[in-house]
Amino acid sequence: MQKHLDILRQYWGYTQFRSLQGDIIRSIAAGKDTLGLMPTGGGKSLTFQVPAMSMEGLCVVVTPLIALMKDQVENLKKRGIAAAAIYSGMSYNAIMMTLDNAVFGAYKFLYVSPERLASAIFMEKIVQTVVCMIAVDESHCISQWGYDFRPSYLRIADIRELLPDVPVLALTATATPEVVEDIQKQLLFKKPNVFQKSFHRSNLAYVVRTVENKDENLLKILNNVPGTSVVYVRNRKKTKEVADFLNQNGIPAENFHAGLKNDTKDAKQKRWMSGETRVIVSTNAFGMGIDKAEVRTVVHMDLPDSLEAYFQEAGRAGRDEQKAYAVLLYNNSDATKMNKRVADTFPGKEMVVKVYEALGNYLQLGVGSGLDAVYSFDIGDFCRKFRLPILISYNCLKILQQAGYLELTDEQDSSSRVLFTVGKEDLYKLRQNAEQEKLIHILLRSYTGLFTDLAAVDEETIAKRLQWTRDMVYEQLVGLSKERIIQYIPRKKTPYLTFIREREATEKVVLGKEAYDDRRERYMSRVKNVLDYAQEENICRCQMLLSYFGEKESKPCGVCDACLKKKETQVTNDDFETIRLSILEVLSDESLPVNKLVRKLNTKEPKAIQVIRFMIDNGQIEENELMHLKIKQKPGEQSI
Ligand code: ADP
Ligand code: MG
Repeated sequence: MQKHLDILRQYWGYTQFRSLQGDIIRSIAAGKDTLGLMPTGGGKSLTFQVPAMSMEGLCVVVTPLIALMKDQVENLKKRGIAAAAIYSGMSYNAIMMTLDNAVFGAYKFLYVSPERLASAIFMEKIVQTVVCMIAVDESHCISQWGYDFRPSYLRIADIRELLPDVPVLALTATATPEVVEDIQKQLLFKKPNVFQKSFHRSNLAYVVRTVENKDENLLKILNNVPGTSVVYVRNRKKTKEVADFLNQNGIPAENFHAGLKNDTKDAKQKRWMSGETRVIVSTNAFGMGIDKAEVRTVVHMDLPDSLEAYFQEAGRAGRDEQKAYAVLLYNNSDATKMNKRVADTFPGKEMVVKVYEALGNYLQLGVGSGLDAVYSFDIGDFCRKFRLPILISYNCLKILQQAGYLELTDEQDSSSRVLFTVGKEDLYKLRQNAEQEKLIHILLRSYTGLFTDLAAVDEETIAKRLQWTRDMVYEQLVGLSKERIIQYIPRKKTPYLTFIREREATEKVVLGKEAYDDRRERYMSRVKNVLDYAQEENICRCQMLLSYFGEKESKPCGVCDACLKKKETQVTNDDFETIRLSILEVLSDESLPVNKLVRKLNTKEPKAIQVIRFMIDNGQIEENELMHLKIKQKPGEQSI
């Protein structure tokens, strides 16, 4: 362990491992297949990064989130560790070069997105490489039982078979017991081996409020609990509406969703991180890779799709171990909405097939072709051209992904690309104007491979060399492309679509029971679990969630709404109200430390303490800097 600690200090500057990190590292370093369950923010990355540093060879890291992959590679490089990534959107040349470097031992870490992992060249090169470990992040994606199944993850097993002696480290933040078992099975674990800490978070109070007016209730919560907040809503339009509403009521808020421009997203995130914006109102696009410890409330205005998702999102509150609240706002119309959601998420099979066919035509793919082909993909454009509804089409693509036909990746920065569509000889025969000639000359001098593959080019660099403006370069490139001398793809942020099977004839596209019906059923059962959670009033929230994740023996948390309700009834309601009023009366004269306050009340200490705690938790009274209790300055407000 000492050597791992040394590595941790030397490269990361941390002094010790968190409890589970040490166990996981010991296990994988001993060559055992290992599954580690740690909450988001728990520090999963170090559990493969540190041990790999003391092993010989390359650590292959599989992860589906390309943006995070790039962050990690940058992060490692900053620490002086050689790392690279392979993902959709890279050119064939770049992938080949990276793989060749890997074979020669140039990297310690190679991040691979799952749809690239199973490609023939990856397989071919990886067997020539000395590999010390395969780390599988977000490993729940390998399980059909999980809430985020990705068939391309199943191909990791093929890599394992090619490298039988290389141990695998699977990581995830959320998995039900059946998924835990399935991950180990699908990843061909030699022996079951799981490390997991309780998911219990003692500083986090789960609360469900059944309310008619959610906006008003949200306002109440934010007025009662100061500090940073994340508010989750279901659709993009609503992010704006709720943020506007909060701003109108004096609470600095901004909206966030995946459809915003990247600069805008970055700026919004920064302002929230710095505390300039108190509340971010977002779809579930917000949160990935975001590490802010002092979030006091996470409020869900709509029901999430699964308790896994809820647990992850709610768990962003209170990472600093200070008191925090995860509140779900519910009303009866939510149950009806859930039914519609099931219908939208699983459009009829004919619709799915229709979208598949349209997609093949959109991409101009002949039947039988397209295996491993990667396309930048604009779903808006696709739907416009084929007059398809966006949400439904998106869900059809998701189903096709789950059925193993294709893979959609999150959007990412791609560099501009150029490919000459005429041969070198012909190039000189064509007549060009002077500008074009200069540009072609510089292109050929600056880049190689322009005749064989779409090569990455940088307009900025070209502009400097030509002493033009960037816009001029752009215009001339577009001009060359119009004359069909080059193919030019300007830089953009774009999602990618990969065909992981060749295009099938429409009548051969089958969505069998497993690919569709079973999944629909599982989705419905997850949705039902969410509804049960929202509708239950008497079971401890924490116990419900923990039991869902396999912890059946936990004790009531004492701080959720169900527990508080119980406590409330221990002190009779009349009692409670009498004590509460006398507390308010005493405190309206002076602020006092708890013990003095209790002495002034005409009641037994445990009861008084219970009421005081309830009032603190519900924002009626609070402690000042001197640890004296005082009435919270929000006249007219009630508890959250
Ligand atoms: P996860 O993947 O589990 O969500 P990360 O690996 O991204 O979490 O780590 C979350 C944060 O915790 C990172 O900022 C990381 O540097 C930090 N961290 C991880 N392990 C330690 C440690 N032993 N000591 C201090 N900070 C740590
Ligand atoms: Mg992680």
